Amino acid sequence: MNLEQWCQLDERIYIAESDERYKQYAGLPYNEKAIKRLAEIKNLSSKSFLENFDRPRELVLAAIENIADSSTKKLELALYEARNKKVVSKAFRLAGAPVNWSSWRQFNSKTRDDRARKRVFDEFTQKTRFVSPVIKKRFAEIRDVYEKYGTGKKIPSPLAGYLENEHVSYSQLISFVKSMGRQAKKPFHESLVDISKKVLGREAEYYDDFYFFRNRVYADMEQYFVKVRPPEQVTKLLTNLQFDMSRIAIDAKNRKNKYPSPICFFVQVPADIRVLYKAESPYFDLQGCYHEMGHAMHASSVDSNASYWDRYGISMGVAEIFSIFLEGLTKNPKYLTSLGVTDKKVLDDLEQRNNFMELFFVTFYTANSLMKAEFWRKDLSMEQASDLYARLLKEYVGLEVPGEYWMLHHILPDAIMYVPSYMLAAVRAAELERHLQGRFGDEWWEQAEAGKHLREIMAPGASIKLSDFSKMDAGVFMKEITA
Ligand SMILES: [Zn+2]
Repeated sequence: MNLEQWCQLDERIYIAESDERYKQYAGLPYNEKAIKRLAEIKNLSSKSFLENFDRPRELVLAAIENIADSSTKKLELALYEARNKKVVSKAFRLAGAPVNWSSWRQFNSKTRDDRARKRVFDEFTQKTRFVSPVIKKRFAEIRDVYEKYGTGKKIPSPLAGYLENEHVSYSQLISFVKSMGRQAKKPFHESLVDISKKVLGREAEYYDDFYFFRNRVYADMEQYFVKVRPPEQVTKLLTNLQFDMSRIAIDAKNRKNKYPSPICFFVQVPADIRVLYKAESPYFDLQGCYHEMGHAMHASSVDSNASYWDRYGISMGVAEIFSIFLEGLTKNPKYLTSLGVTDKKVLDDLEQRNNFMELFFVTFYTANSLMKAEFWRKDLSMEQASDLYARLLKEYVGLEVPGEYWMLHHILPDAIMYVPSYMLAAVRAAELERHLQGRFGDEWWEQAEAGKHLREIMAPGASIKLSDFSKMDAGVFMKEITA
């Protein structure tokens, strides 16, 4: 088997797997046994790659990651089970069922009872003792996979794999993250006092977390967005920019078992990209829909003749650029005006709240990133990780949060790293926007040429030339949100 044959085979497996997973998330009939079997086949395919090939590095990295992922599937499911069956409230219910980890955020956004939110937060913090052993075991097994399969390929640890995939060194990443956190700290703390008074009528407490604020902070703005139809608007935008919409499908149907958040599937890059979307609250939907369509715009623009690894081996720090970039339009007063949201006071208010959420994002993700990096680098115990996390949240977010909270997050206990990629991408997205404004003017989205230029940037897939628009200058992003 030569490399080309291996790639063709692996791509067929990948396509079948994503198609089946798409159906599952869409709430359509799907075959669970097929999903399990395909995961096993994928695992074998990755192992055969490592036995036969040493390059390209993108595929070496992906193969080890796939093995780590598929060989810890049982523990992943155990974590999912423990979250929903053990992290459950004794006293509080939502829609007739006890609040559990999955319905927690929804509960927080629905209830106006602060004491109830505090009690659930405290109870769930206590109950992290049920998920802690599973998280510990799963991460230990992932570490073992890297030792076993990666040592000979110079990828001896999960952290080493992540850094090589993102093309950054450990010290570069840490100083980048710390410098953003340091710049955001003070303006965030000031803004937190202000916004808390406005939307909560009191000072923020440890149980008023990022996800609670992300919902509550827009509560009185939603009414101005009820007439905006996100899927139609974003389709019109991308059509005007001359993207090939025949490659992108948006499913906006409401099915009972459909995944609640918008999500994008790269079923076959670039020809078959699918976005799932479910209407919930107007402004939140607008942001989510543009974010996922940014992923779709990106994946559908990759050159169909690019290599297998350039089409699929795109790092998160690159993939999230285009989603954050397109989502940026939903925060752009000029673009919002074109959607019919014209009240100056509303647009000003919205800008202030968006800036607050961006600052919250930077401080929170600084703490998240630094904790996870230390976790892998120093092989921390669960207790040490929680202690460190409490210290980092105090330092950057400024609140005294119990450190066990990291185990209740939806990315930190699941992904190897992932979190700093959002920070890398947010900075690059701001630079990309600046780049387009420089070439095509402030309202670049009105020019079909801007679409063509974007496609040129995105066409190489994983081999993207970031230096064409990015110097990794955090100043561009930070200036926007601290203005
Ligand atoms: Zn995304």
